[in-house]
Amino acid sequence: MMEDSTQVRGKGIPHERCARMTLDMVRHEVPYHVIGYSWEGGSPSWTLLSMRSCGGVLTPSGDPFDIRAEEMKEVNLRTSGSSYCVGRFDNGKYIPCPDHNMTSQFAQCNYCMSFEIPDPSCIFEPHCSRGTCGAEFCQIEHVVYLTGFRERTKVGMTQLRRFETRGMEQGADVILPLLVLGDRYSARVMEWRISKLLGLPQSVPSSSKISGWGRPRDDAKILKRLSDLKIYLSSRWDEIVSGVGGEVKIEKAPIEFEQGPVILKFPLEEPLPSPPRRYHNEIVRGDVIGYKGNYLVFRSGGLWAWRIGETPGRIVYFSERLD
Ligand SMILES: [Zn+2]
Ligand SMILES: [Zn+2]
Repeated sequence: MMEDSTQVRGKGIPHERCARMTLDMVRHEVPYHVIGYSWEGGSPSWTLLSMRSCGGVLTPSGDPFDIRAEEMKEVNLRTSGSSYCVGRFDNGKYIPCPDHNMTSQFAQCNYCMSFEIPDPSCIFEPHCSRGTCGAEFCQIEHVVYLTGFRERTKVGMTQLRRFETRGMEQGADVILPLLVLGDRYSARVMEWRISKLLGLPQSVPSSSKISGWGRPRDDAKILKRLSDLKIYLSSRWDEIVSGVGGEVKIEKAPIEFEQGPVILKFPLEEPLPSPPRRYHNEIVRGDVIGYKGNYLVFRSGGLWAWRIGETPGRIVYFSERLD
């Protein structure tokens, strides 16, 4: 799970010129580095950093700022082909990546990540059943949850304190946490066992999520489906925990955990008149319709879903200054 890091010469991020001009000759040449995209607080927020262009390279200028994505009524920008390390925050102070490393799998390079996550493999394959790798999330309470996306269901795990945010990030209709675990390792073990027992996947493809947005939400139906699965899980609980090692820290079994399902509300009016198509071009222009999960939905001719959640690390070029 290590990532490629390529050092960029000349202490900066290479400026990518516009390869194609738009038909109406709008130029997108004002660069911002995307530092983050998050759903904290129930609405999307995009964190950008103004960049200064000099001698073909871009360097940070000023501090990152947030755009409440919902305030963006129109989208009109161009994205870079490559991604560069987003740097890090230390006690609220932003520290850019010293080498402006190119990144692939994560938004940070290994160096910048090492301050908070010394062992990145513990993100996807948590292995700290005794002691900690040093990551703050490794030893805190987690949940295993179910999320419903129209008629699809998946199993996942996340930190207890941010389970609703996790559901928002995924663009789920409903989330139901099932049980509480003492650490991340225990959550991953139980996620696997529950996924197997219920015969449910650990991910739902984006194409199924997006095509669902063209159909009405029937939240009552999803609530019932997830709640029934929790009841079924409780009925087979003894079987699930038999054979689980003592290193797995179960703090609350499904029957003891009273948290009910949460209906997730997004700034997107559903059902959409038609399911949006996935948008992949570098120039993104149109009227913003709304946001769900990783996607911004906009209209330009038809409806499009653009994966704004994957922009952290990229440079976005606007036609004019935002700050
Ligand atoms: Zn870095
Ligand atoms: Zn760990």
